[in-house]
Amino acid sequence: MERIHVAVRARPLSSEDAKTSPWRISGNSIFIPNHSSKFEFDQIFGEDCDTMQVYQARTKDIVAAAVRGFNGTVFAYGQTNSGKTYTMRGSRTEPGVIPLAVRDLFEIIQQDDHREFLLRMSYMEIYNEEINDLLAPEHRKLQIHENLERGIYVAGLREEIVATPEQVLHFMEFGESHRHIGETNMNLYSSRSHTIFRMIIESRDRSEDEEDANSCDAVRVSVLNLVDLAGSERAAKTGAEGVRLKEGSHINKSLMTLGTVIKKLSEGAESQGGHVPYRDSKLTRILQPALGGNANTAMICNITLAQIHADETKSSLQFASRAL
Ligand code: ADP
Ligand code: MG
Repeated sequence: MERIHVAVRARPLSSEDAKTSPWRISGNSIFIPNHSSKFEFDQIFGEDCDTMQVYQARTKDIVAAAVRGFNGTVFAYGQTNSGKTYTMRGSRTEPGVIPLAVRDLFEIIQQDDHREFLLRMSYMEIYNEEINDLLAPEHRKLQIHENLERGIYVAGLREEIVATPEQVLHFMEFGESHRHIGETNMNLYSSRSHTIFRMIIESRDRSEDEEDANSCDAVRVSVLNLVDLAGSERAAKTGAEGVRLKEGSHINKSLMTLGTVIKKLSEGAESQGGHVPYRDSKLTRILQPALGGNANTAMICNITLAQIHADETKSSLQFASRAL
């Protein structure tokens, strides 16, 4: 596996928060002056950067590689309100990484005269360690299976064949209206679930030549996962109780497992035959085929530079550092 690419994106601050922010960014490092911790990443995007720049940093290459048959995964990590969904899905004024990737994907395959493509998409959430199908809201608590033919897969997950970017966005909008959203004591609607947007890219050599058509590269299938993770803040801070606490601990469990998996991979554990605990959470199990091996992985760590969130931002940066 190639090294995981880690970019940090800081969301815009109010002018009041900007005045009191303790953080400084210098090139690819971010730090609080006179504090010991200084973090370095592949790229740091300040508040004046747009999503296109974030997309071009690494995701664009991962999309192109997915068309060539390499699995890829891009995560948005960070506390609630740090800009994960803004980055991945976008807003009314600025398209996110997902629509940018989808547009690119269709452009690349249209330019390819040698292969013909079939694109499918799926959209799921993991909520309380339960997998729900956002494209088929009646499909809840889906199970993960594994067999020789299909590898690791979510049984019963709907896959829609898509022929245009507009169709993809239409299905996404449908899926969004079925997401689980809960109101926390922070008086925010904060996302308590992990959302996995997936494109499945299947292609076949157009060549009529028998020999070519029978070569092992004649049919390729790869997946591209674009993941909007649940808020990384600790359950305690949101005053979580009861159901909310249960959700919080599940969320932290899968984020912790993700952290461990990513750390193991970056240490080269897999190629050395070491144990990578994919099975410890649904999230890592589902993503397993697109994390290890020769898959491409990137993380966008969303942060806020506001003073009041300094501790949370520090733990986000610590989490992201483990992937390097
Ligand atoms: P999260 O998904 O991490 O909880 P959101 O993406 O919902 O956070 O962002 C919280 C709020 O901040 C939203 O109103 C969003 O529009 C705004 N926001 C986040 N990042 C940016 C940005 N880079 N530029 C402008 N507004 C942003
Ligand atoms: Mg969100």
